Amino acid sequence: MFSIDSNTKPSSMKTNFNADNSRAATWVSCYVGLGSNLMNELGSPSEHIARALASMQEYGQIRELQASSFYASAPMGPQDQPDFVNAVAGFQTTLTPFTLLAYCQQLEALAKRARIRRWGERSLDVDILLYGDLQMTDPQLTIPHAGLSERNFVLIPLRELTPTLTVAGIPIVDYPQSNDWTGLTLLSCD
Ligand code: ADP
Ligand code: MG
Repeated sequence: MFSIDSNTKPSSMKTNFNADNSRAATWVSCYVGLGSNLMNELGSPSEHIARALASMQEYGQIRELQASSFYASAPMGPQDQPDFVNAVAGFQTTLTPFTLLAYCQQLEALAKRARIRRWGERSLDVDILLYGDLQMTDPQLTIPHAGLSERNFVLIPLRELTPTLTVAGIPIVDYPQSNDWTGLTLLSCD
């Protein structure tokens, strides 16, 4: 596991919001997936992910941050691009789903992410995987993440963090892709 400080696991919590809907009334247990396959003037793929995790660790509306190991994965879209580095972070937050999305996009902007092509190379991608037990479908935000159940580069680090997790009512260990290491390699810690 990538060491950030805290040893506590995010606990499962119900999703409640304050009257103005801007801030969750309680701490909600969330998971985000981080991916990078583009080096730029700010650093390497692993450094982009490590920097995003460090920012999350410092952020007041996030607590009990835990990060998985880093993994190398074969690209999903165009094949003429470098392998990705992937990790998953689990934490509790008082951010609402859309403010968490904006926060994820802010982390991407901090890594100077530029849109080159769909599913193409990027310095940082931060996707919301799970937000408590919330299920929502919106053009801007789908939770659980639409690709979650088919992507081993998300399921395997998620399972590493919380082996007892259930996703859409199904134990994570029962998702075939959480047992399939095709194209995936565990990266050693520096
Ligand atoms: P991708 O992650 O699919 O490679 P992008 O990072 O460019 O693509 O995101 C495209 C859009 O996906 C975002 O603008 C966002 O509104 C939308 N989106 C829908 N659901 C999610 C989610 N769970 N997490 C992050 N973005 C999401
Ligand atoms: Mg994304």
